[in-house]
Amino acid sequence: MKRTKIVDALQSTDFGKDICVKGWVRTHRSSKAVDFIALNDGSTIKNIQVVVDPASMDAEMLKSITTGACICAVGTLVESQGKGQTSEIQAKEIEIYGLCPSDYPMQKKGQSFEYMREYAHLRLRTNTFGAVFRIRHNMAMAVHQYFHEHGFYYFHTPLITASDAEGAGEMFQVTTLDLSRTGKDDQVAYDRDFFGKKTNLTVSGQLEGELGATALGAIYTFGPTFRAENSNTPRHLAEFWMIEPEVAFMDKAELMDLEEDFIKYCVRWALDNCKDDLEFLNKMIDKTLLDTLNSVVKEDFVRLTYTEGIEILKKAEADGHKFEFPITGWGMDLSSEHERFLVEEYFKRPVIMNDYPAEIKAFYMKKNEDGKTMQGTDVLFPRIGEIIGGSVREENMDKLVGEIKSRGMDPSQYSWYLDTRKYGSCPHAGFGLGFERLILFVTGMQNIRDVIPFPRTPGKAEF
Ligand code: ATP
Ligand code: MN
Repeated sequence: MKRTKIVDALQSTDFGKDICVKGWVRTHRSSKAVDFIALNDGSTIKNIQVVVDPASMDAEMLKSITTGACICAVGTLVESQGKGQTSEIQAKEIEIYGLCPSDYPMQKKGQSFEYMREYAHLRLRTNTFGAVFRIRHNMAMAVHQYFHEHGFYYFHTPLITASDAEGAGEMFQVTTLDLSRTGKDDQVAYDRDFFGKKTNLTVSGQLEGELGATALGAIYTFGPTFRAENSNTPRHLAEFWMIEPEVAFMDKAELMDLEEDFIKYCVRWALDNCKDDLEFLNKMIDKTLLDTLNSVVKEDFVRLTYTEGIEILKKAEADGHKFEFPITGWGMDLSSEHERFLVEEYFKRPVIMNDYPAEIKAFYMKKNEDGKTMQGTDVLFPRIGEIIGGSVREENMDKLVGEIKSRGMDPSQYSWYLDTRKYGSCPHAGFGLGFERLILFVTGMQNIRDVIPFPRTPGKAEF
């Protein structure tokens, strides 16, 4: 008999008809008169109830159906008596695909996320991770849909790069040489390496993305990004996914509009398409989740210059607010406690901070007339801090080369990049959104390791 997905079975009103469902047992309660098996197949957060008359089944077989076991159940679809569900199955036949021994690590309810991380290969079968990864899929669809609707081309930038990128983070080296034999980097014969030179995994597709944008008009990347930074925080991964749109002829005001419009679209998409999972997470993980998502979609984001931000933070500190990292003054790099203070306590809305001091930002950002600030446009979010890092790019060749040199970098390394300025240079802008930070926000989860199926962090790379 053809299998019906549980998501469809629960919505079906074909009462009285026979149906076949397959899935993993969440719970099995038994009494003398009746057994209830809650079955889940990943198609929805909801379980379907399989009602079994114990007299109609082999007792040993029925007893062996424990939490985590995989079964196929055939029976009559009936209107549910229980509250909260529409239909259930009166079992006629049960086939066991896989028994689940009692040492199954995901057996107990309410295990901590730390514990479940130790069993990252099995945690996918729990309600929470099912919800998170269904939402993650939906957000990926939202990203592609938004850019497709808005005339951006999906542009694939390389994962292995020979450029020294932008100092966005420490890089993972890619090599086929046995470096343990050579020791010092200057003694390594990279001309004999696979590419004939030193190569790394990409920390950002932006520079290559600019090549795309200055030809196709508007592009976006959406792929894995690697940073060997030793930051063991709940917001950093060594391997994460980044979305990087890049647009020709876009100025700072338009860029901030794009950032706000895009992120609101994604959050709205989640509210429209992930109702059951969000309700579950709102109940189990964060009781303010739905309110937060709804308010982000409704409220205008604040536009705030870095200079104004520092003034607010200084005043808050003077009025007695204690920051772990004191506000040392104009020019300091803000940490997430400062960003979150502005968003969560001061404005109570997302903030797009802009016009940052040049010293704390990357070389490619467009300098303002004041010579001190650059047209960076970071989006700061409740619970997350920085979710987007964006900027207008410096399109003037001389200024760009000057900036590269003043940072002790070698312009000859960037000749292909500088050619966009040499030949038909154009004003353009773009941003990078960390996909997992968006998923953190949308799911209400606390730790970035819990919103990617297989997290990579310092000292941890399983599978
Ligand atoms: P942070 O200050 O939080 O480390 P960043 O300034 O290094 O961020 P960018 O280089 O601007 O970040 O990267 C763009 C976006 O990528 C960030 O806004 C963030 O959403 C995301 N991001 C950056 N580093 C990581 C990481 N290690 N893990 C997950 N997401 C990241
Ligand atoms: Mn960083």
